[in-house]
Amino acid sequence: MYLHPEFEKLSRSEIEALQLERLKKTVRQCLRTEFYRERFAERRMTADDIRSLSDLRRLPFTTKQDLRDSYPFKMSAVPLSEVVRLHSSSGTTGTPTVILHTQKDLDEWANAVARCLYMVGLRPGDIFQNSSGYGMFTGGLGFQYGAERLGMLTVPAAAGNTKRQIKFITDFGTTALHAIPSYAGRLFEVMEEMGLDPRRDTKLHTLIIGAEPHSEEQRRRIEQMLGVKAYNSFGMSEMCGPGVAFECTEQNGLHIWEDYYIVEIVDPVTLEPVPEGEVGELVLTTINREAMPLLRYRTRDLTRILPGACPCGRQHLRLDRMKGRSDDMIILKGVNIFPIQIETVLMQFAELGNDYLITLTNEEANDLMTVEVELKEFSDDYPRLQALTREITRQLKDEILITPVVRLVAKGSLPKQEGKAVRVKDLRKTLI
Ligand code: ADP
Ligand code: ZN
Repeated sequence: MYLHPEFEKLSRSEIEALQLERLKKTVRQCLRTEFYRERFAERRMTADDIRSLSDLRRLPFTTKQDLRDSYPFKMSAVPLSEVVRLHSSSGTTGTPTVILHTQKDLDEWANAVARCLYMVGLRPGDIFQNSSGYGMFTGGLGFQYGAERLGMLTVPAAAGNTKRQIKFITDFGTTALHAIPSYAGRLFEVMEEMGLDPRRDTKLHTLIIGAEPHSEEQRRRIEQMLGVKAYNSFGMSEMCGPGVAFECTEQNGLHIWEDYYIVEIVDPVTLEPVPEGEVGELVLTTINREAMPLLRYRTRDLTRILPGACPCGRQHLRLDRMKGRSDDMIILKGVNIFPIQIETVLMQFAELGNDYLITLTNEEANDLMTVEVELKEFSDDYPRLQALTREITRQLKDEILITPVVRLVAKGSLPKQEGKAVRVKDLRKTLI
């Protein structure tokens, strides 16, 4: 059953008191690792130097590189005999890293995921299907244990085999599905090909979408296509996996569970805190972990803290929808562009499908961006397609300030991934 609902309702002062108590404990736990002992020694700090939450800023940052350097077990704060599971990040951006869990860590993780699912109205009696890859990818087991903790009938369908996935949805009467956003679109296309109407032929009412950046427009599309409410779910292996931050039914920002994490938003260059409400790099300190606590972990994800209180009454801070990772940013002709900006424009055209690919090339020192996007339906009305291409180009230029080459391609012609979608191909040669 879902444990500790009282933590969801904490007031700000209760959250802060709990955070300080847990931070002190976490620091002591961290000092069992050589990595943090060295960092503290460099700063001539001891665990007793943490007296208030503002002392957090004196602590060292931890980076992905630190995790790579500690591969596989050097960051363990407990004897390996107490570690019951390891996960590895999906390695989207380089060498994998390893995250270790004690049984208590796994229990707390399941609680966090159960809390998220409960928040969006899921209850025992719901049938929860998980289309994430199982194994090292935390979206599989993370949701599995969280959904079971909540007491739902859980279908570990795993990734791929879309027709079988759909058969499960219809045969078992699946009411809630977890899918990465790019896959939700694919599911709908295959349902259509099979002559199924999700509103009529399934009992789906809730979709959990996350693990990759997506725009508000893409969420609305998913909701309309499948006739569901879709909730944004944010997590990463280093912070356990799913269950870090999740939208409530207001669908306006993701509550981050502050009894598990202390949140900072910093300028990625100066590492100083950004002014309140501004976008910067999300930095998280785990305060509820035994095997591998992390201090001030630089996630590289860019977001901001939404100002004001959430009408739902929860006092845990809300993160804005992720803008992308700092390393996803495209720099073209000196302009900084996030793929999500392009997606936001594309998704406003009803004629366009859900898949697109941004390719960057350079010819004679001239950077070029090509945006290929699938049409929703076949068309040979060339004057209309030309006008559409012109309009998309114009709106993209307004958004990203450079003029891309736009190509409308047939439905299904862009490469599909089983995991997270690849939206950008950078074929530029470095000029010496
Ligand atoms: P990898 O880092 O190898 O992709 P993870 O599976 O741990 O492995 O992915 C975590 C990352 O996925 C996050 O740091 C973030 O960049 C991205 N991510 C996860 N959930 C979301 C979300 N809801 N919106 C945007 N990005 C997300
Ligand atoms: Zn809320």
